Amino acid sequence: MKKTPFDNKSGEEITSEALRLALAQAGWRYTRQREAVSRYLRSTHNHPTAEQVYAAIRRHMPSISLATVYKALQALVEAHLATKLPDASGPARFEWRSEPHYHVRCTRTGCILDLKQTFDPKLLEKLDPKLKDFLQQQGFQVTGYNLELLGQFEHD
Ligand SMILES: [Zn+2]
Repeated sequence: MKKTPFDNKSGEEITSEALRLALAQAGWRYTRQREAVSRYLRSTHNHPTAEQVYAAIRRHMPSISLATVYKALQALVEAHLATKLPDASGPARFEWRSEPHYHVRCTRTGCILDLKQTFDPKLLEKLDPKLKDFLQQQGFQVTGYNLELLGQFEHD
């Protein structure tokens, strides 16, 4: 197998019971649709938009609506099972991972991939040891950060 810097491991398995429990703890009901959305997110590495999730699930669940998919995604994010990646210039993307990690984004196709590198919680300190304190003095509390490498894949 070719070595790649990308992390293509499948999303963690979760039983229907565990899903039900995680949703309940976040104040959401378990539904067949939410199960289907979670199963699809677990199966893909593409960081799909809500529309893409909808298009995929509709194929075997034709009665599902886009609004139901949006709600299911929100429920999974609030249950800390999935993550929402906001996008300033387009629709948010979703993925079945809640632990922090780095991304690569292709500015031509919009595709997003996970990097294998271990997330470094001290990266901000390395950038500037005084940054957090300085921002705090300005009334801004740092709660995290995102790192996304931008570029384009070579293509024929
Ligand atoms: Zn990711």
